[in-house]
Amino acid sequence: MLTCPNCGVSPLTHAIREMHYSYKGQSTAIPDVAVEHCAGCKEVMFARGEDEHYGELIKAFRKQVDADELKTIRAMRKGLGLTRQKADELLGDEAGDFARYEAGEAHAPVALLKLLRLLGKHPELLDALR
Ligand SMILES: [Zn+2]
Repeated sequence: MLTCPNCGVSPLTHAIREMHYSYKGQSTAIPDVAVEHCAGCKEVMFARGEDEHYGELIKAFRKQVDADELKTIRAMRKGLGLTRQKADELLGDEAGDFARYEAGEAHAPVALLKLLRLLGKHPELLDALR
């Protein structure tokens, strides 16, 4: 049995854990992650080879969140009855911002996503921006 590399005292115990991961406010649970757990110092580390497996699942989740974001931005803009050009004028920094966000060429600032959600709930506020 391996000794914990963190405290150097207690033996490591193999365990299967569910890990939780958040990205841009979206959460996911990753089941069946093999870890080594130290009963002494409570350190938890990935079992051999598991960090790569976990890393790939995280990468796939982030890609999915980013892909959903593009669709969400487009849907929210359309829901407000704005063309990309109009959305750039009212909410963007410069011309072409929304085209870039919706094509995935640039990441929309989190504040913009929050503003779009707010406007989705209170579309009458759009007039205050004009
Ligand atoms: Zn330890």
